[in-house]
Amino acid sequence: MSRTPLIAGNWKMNLNHLEGIALVQKIAFTLPEKYYSHVEVAVFPPFTALRSVQTLIEGDKLAVKHGAQDLSPEASGAYTGDIAGSMLAKLGCTYVLVGHSERREYHGETDELLSRKVAAAFANGIIPMLCVGEGLEVREAGNQVQHTVDQVLAGMSTVTPEQAETIVLAYEPVWAIGTGRVATPADAQEVCGAIRAALAGKYGQETADKIRILYGGSVKSGNVAEICGQPDVDGALVGGASLDGTEFATLAANA
Ligand code: PEP
Repeated sequence: MSRTPLIAGNWKMNLNHLEGIALVQKIAFTLPEKYYSHVEVAVFPPFTALRSVQTLIEGDKLAVKHGAQDLSPEASGAYTGDIAGSMLAKLGCTYVLVGHSERREYHGETDELLSRKVAAAFANGIIPMLCVGEGLEVREAGNQVQHTVDQVLAGMSTVTPEQAETIVLAYEPVWAIGTGRVATPADAQEVCGAIRAALAGKYGQETADKIRILYGGSVKSGNVAEICGQPDVDGALVGGASLDGTEFATLAANA
């Protein structure tokens, strides 16, 4: 089963729109053309940079996609500070992150809320990238597989078999995010393989084999090949290393 690897750069709350333009230009002009058919590259700027990034990508026909870091579960209305899926669709977003561990931790986002965000993304023609993963305590207790599979199934509770084919999942052990402590390739495979098995149980093997499951947590150009070499790991969600255009382009080329 061939799944095109996806290398996704989560800029988090970094870079204004001018800095964002410069970074996308750097990525597009550093990543050699020949890699574009083997790997899909996407950036996730803050909301304030989305319009500028969209204009650059569409104007220069760059082979880089863009997505947002969050969306509201609601369609519109009195939700001050929130951003609707329809607004992101107008900004040409291909993807939207849902349930990044920083949203779960700092904003108390629950699996029930995230399942509504997943539904809102699909309702607007945007592919959700549902982020899951265990904290250190869960890992030390040896419960990482059950914990993470439960998050996947809860977050996908509203997802139809047709939608499931396009969803992207990102397994990000919380203890590996921004810490420099990367999971071993075997750690990543253990959980990503278990997620795929659970998806096969719910949607059938054919559908499960189409779903891309990324790994995230201190991925860099030097370790990406080993991690993406695992049978059930289909790319990487990258935080820190996505803020340096040369490093991110090299990482994508090495995936
Ligand atoms: C992330 O924020 O999704 C992430 C994986 O960050 P980092 O690559 O910096 O660990």
